[in-house]
Amino acid sequence: MAVPSRLSPTNEEGEMWRAGVLSIFPDMFPGPLGQSLAGKALAAGAWALDVADIRGFATDKHRTVDDTPAGGGPGMVMKADVLARALDAIVQESRPRLLMSPRGVPLTQTRVEALAAGPGVILVCGRFEGVDERVIAARGLEEVSIGDYVLSGGEIGAMALIDACVRLLPGVMGAAASVSEESFAGGLLEYPHYTRPQMFEDRPIPDVLLSGDHAKIAAWRRAEAERLTRDRRPDLWAGRDEKVTKPAR
Ligand code: SAH
Repeated sequence: MAVPSRLSPTNEEGEMWRAGVLSIFPDMFPGPLGQSLAGKALAAGAWALDVADIRGFATDKHRTVDDTPAGGGPGMVMKADVLARALDAIVQESRPRLLMSPRGVPLTQTRVEALAAGPGVILVCGRFEGVDERVIAARGLEEVSIGDYVLSGGEIGAMALIDACVRLLPGVMGAAASVSEESFAGGLLEYPHYTRPQMFEDRPIPDVLLSGDHAKIAAWRRAEAERLTRDRRPDLWAGRDEKVTKPAR
């Protein structure tokens, strides 16, 4: 794989984009974020990752981070006092503080773009049945979900969010155009891709893509993107911004 050609260590504000993660499983990081695009960019200093072990902020000798739910019921709850101490130990600054949570606002590409353009993120990874409500309120944590399903912890969600942001940082992706044309840009899903061989199990590459006629190719891709979006994501199709999605004439 090609090394990114131009790596900028700063975002729009001139500071390196930083992800701060709080987790009881810090060894899960960088994990997949240490590989491929994100990993090369991390090694090159295009972004920074700080992982804090929440357990390190427990005060008892068993380093307890959870307790039984008030009111009864199954499972355990992450303790407010320990998590608050962990958050307070992280330098006070303006990065958004997000709690990974299936109850949160679903993450979108628009939000990812906004986060990538800022100074970075502080991400709290929940575990157990969840986190004591009082620390969410007291430390102004914004709950963010990566989809309508339940994971066993926030770490994989945090990695997904960081990965989505990092690939948008200046110089991390080889071709900037591939970001502006992909799914969700302009409110549409992306058109289908093909590459050699020209024939695969009796399935040819569509003729138009081999025509060399760039206007025709753009029109075909546009029509395919619209068809896919209409068929698969009626919610996106209904909410698309006509001004953005109308092709330039
Ligand atoms: N009892 C909770 C689920 C807890 S899952 C409920 O019913 O809502 C344990 C932790 O995994 C959560 O605290 C959260 O940090 C993380 N998690 C689970 N699903 C997630 C999702 N869809 N998006 C983001 N984080 C999630």
